[in-house]
Amino acid sequence: MRFLVDRMLGRMRSWLRLFGYDTRYATEMDDGPLLMQAQDEDRILLSRDKELIERCEKRGVKAMRITSMDTPGQLTEVMISLGVDPSIKFLRCTLCNEPIKRLNKDDLKKLKLKGEGYDYIPDSPPDDREFWRCTGCGQVFWEGGHWSNIEKMIKLLRRRYMEAERLEKKLEHWIEHSEGHEESYRKAVLEAEELGLLDLRKDLEHAVDAMEETTGWLRSALKRLKMGK
Ligand SMILES: [Zn+2]
Repeated sequence: MRFLVDRMLGRMRSWLRLFGYDTRYATEMDDGPLLMQAQDEDRILLSRDKELIERCEKRGVKAMRITSMDTPGQLTEVMISLGVDPSIKFLRCTLCNEPIKRLNKDDLKKLKLKGEGYDYIPDSPPDDREFWRCTGCGQVFWEGGHWSNIEKMIKLLRRRYMEAERLEKKLEHWIEHSEGHEESYRKAVLEAEELGLLDLRKDLEHAVDAMEETTGWLRSALKRLKMGK
């Protein structure tokens, strides 16, 4: 899965890259070039713009409309609907999307000696601390002070995934029940007919229709949870 994130969803891009997904950030403001980029590069376009998503659907461009205003909500949406795996992969630079490479102690020393603005790298990092460097922009990454925030977000997303799985089980269960009820109501319609009670039959027919509609909504809800599977 590769993504093209539109300009309204800037904060999502770093997270998707952190999760290892090749994610480009839209530099284009106009819909046309944006659609073309998604199509040419075989990317799923993520956008909050309803009309843009409709245009994508009409032209067969893979796209998903994001409705949440906040980053955790937006990430929950792609996790549930597309099956995005919220775990850190150490594959891509969160700044520029290029691959990152693990650095050993010698690499680090060389970087420090070069003095090309890498002063922020600790002088004597603990032995178990690992460092990566972007092959594109040269940025060096490690599990620094901001790491607890990243872990918090991942924990939240995993909790939400489990909640969604529980809801999925409930929906499957309810659909089965609704179908059972539909069947029973249909039988009752026939019984009312045999009794010759027309008004009773009508009411029961309405109940069948209502139950069918309910089952339909439950199926639609289940489909939204199952899209990523
Ligand atoms: Zn980079």
